[in-house]
Amino acid sequence: MTQSESRLSRRSMLKLTAAASAVAASAASQAHAADLAQSGTPPTNGAGFYRFKIGEFTGIVFSDGQAVSNNSPFPNWGANPGRQAEFEQTLKDNFIPVTPFVNNFNPMLIDTGKNRVLIDTGFGLAGAQNNTGKLLAHLKSAGYKPTDIDTVFITHGHGDHIQGLTDAKGKMTFSRAQHLMGEAEFNQWVNGANPNAAVKKNLVDVKGNFTLVQPNQEIVPGVRTLPSPGHTRNHLAILAASGSEQLIHLGDAGGHYVLSFKFPDHYLGFDADPAVASQSRKAIFERATTERMMVVGYHFAWPGVGYIKRDGNAYAFQPAFWRFA
Ligand SMILES: [Zn+2]
Repeated sequence: MTQSESRLSRRSMLKLTAAASAVAASAASQAHAADLAQSGTPPTNGAGFYRFKIGEFTGIVFSDGQAVSNNSPFPNWGANPGRQAEFEQTLKDNFIPVTPFVNNFNPMLIDTGKNRVLIDTGFGLAGAQNNTGKLLAHLKSAGYKPTDIDTVFITHGHGDHIQGLTDAKGKMTFSRAQHLMGEAEFNQWVNGANPNAAVKKNLVDVKGNFTLVQPNQEIVPGVRTLPSPGHTRNHLAILAASGSEQLIHLGDAGGHYVLSFKFPDHYLGFDADPAVASQSRKAIFERATTERMMVVGYHFAWPGVGYIKRDGNAYAFQPAFWRFA
């Protein structure tokens, strides 16, 4: 064996050892999960929902699941040209793994006592492909049936927000609810040429079920739409107010929970109009900061509930501390 052969074989040995220990670690964690399941202990943390108060209202954020990707999050999660290395370093500085990259999906219920408003619906049955689609299971854990929901509001027409709208037969999942979506947003998706499969099944084929609303319109007492264009051209967030408390469900108007706050001009690969998206973001962040509102971000780290504070010329997301009740 030459010296270089010996180096080579040492390197492959190291590689093999690393692969073997990864396999062993994954087998061990699977065995541990099986043990927990047998003893009746859920193998995952938490129950998939987080309940809190907004004045007299109850807010519940549901996890539709977490998608884990081994691909780089860039440019999707930071599309500004030439700044990927800076963004990647910022994630590392904030102890957020770059790969695997974890994406959260946080639909939310606002129970006003009179109305039950569900904001966005996750992946539905399509979630079988990426470990999401858990909204209905977590709704049940929180004590609600689909028929308890009287209002479903859709912030925008992307697949991770609309695919829970219909079941396997194409019927409305929340069969007793009124379905609301911004008129301009709805029309863009429903009247567009060649709608994708998610749009066809969940918007086009069931369009008769929708009532179209406007920016700044009250949809039930205490809950109104909030214009926040840019991520999609007519994206609407939700503003809920009860007593002295207010909460904005940002939908996707919040962007990334570190990058979009630290870099006010940051935008996503998914943003239809980057300049408008970052303008909307700054305006909402400024308002939420000034008025000390709670915010929820659809893709923020679970449960995505918190506040926005100023940080120099930028902002920072301050997660709300965990309450058990
Ligand atoms: Zn989204």
